[in-house]
Amino acid sequence: MRTPLLAGNWKMNGSADLVEAFGRVFAEAKLPEGLEVVIFPPFPYLEAARRAFDDTPLRLGAQTLNPLHSGAHTGEVSGRMLREFGVRYALVGHSERRQLYLEGDEQVFDRLLAALGVGLTPVLCVGETLEERDAGRTMEVVLRQVGFVMSRLEPEQRRLVVIAYEPVWAIGTGRTATPEQAQEVMAAIREYQAEYDPQLAAGLRLLYGGSMNAGNAAELLAQPDIDGGLVGGASLKVDDFLAICQSAG
Ligand code: PEP
Repeated sequence: MRTPLLAGNWKMNGSADLVEAFGRVFAEAKLPEGLEVVIFPPFPYLEAARRAFDDTPLRLGAQTLNPLHSGAHTGEVSGRMLREFGVRYALVGHSERRQLYLEGDEQVFDRLLAALGVGLTPVLCVGETLEERDAGRTMEVVLRQVGFVMSRLEPEQRRLVVIAYEPVWAIGTGRTATPEQAQEVMAAIREYQAEYDPQLAAGLRLLYGGSMNAGNAAELLAQPDIDGGLVGGASLKVDDFLAICQSAG
């Protein structure tokens, strides 16, 4: 039995007021039994979020981390620092980091390893571009991104990783993958892992990301290999995000 997980990635958005609103609404909210909910706010809001989320089921995540613990890396934040602020999850390999900040598979792996090293749960983001999908290369691209990281980990490390399949063409575009398209890729990721570790594959948590909203979440989350969602735009409206969480029941 896999624990469902709903994650809200605020990206470079949000405000102190939004942090407070999430704290207020989720303190009273009725959520499906066993659902894990994580918010990934920008770094400056972490401390306020830690306080505001204290009496709620919300957990904290970081949108990225540097692979090192400390040093002369202006503008960067380490996993150790994040732990001090109550952070428990870290996104790695988000397509915006891959495309805008040129993070390749090696860097994604280094960040994921650093997250594991300080006890953060890494959420590894993978996904194909529209060009790659149109060229029939979706499975090749996604399984290469997954394989690059997973094959370099020890079996016990692999069990701690959450994978988010986010087709790049669906992120922030309002164009969601159909439940069938998402399910097909998620099933392929699970089968690929099952080839060398069936037990790992059965327990692997797979999230869908890409224009998930209160209207389409239930159908996506009902797919057998979709264990939750990584939500961008719709996680900036507390009522919409709550409705998505409630549709995971
Ligand atoms: C994301 O950034 O991970 C994402 C899925 O964004 P959106 O929901 O806005 O497409």
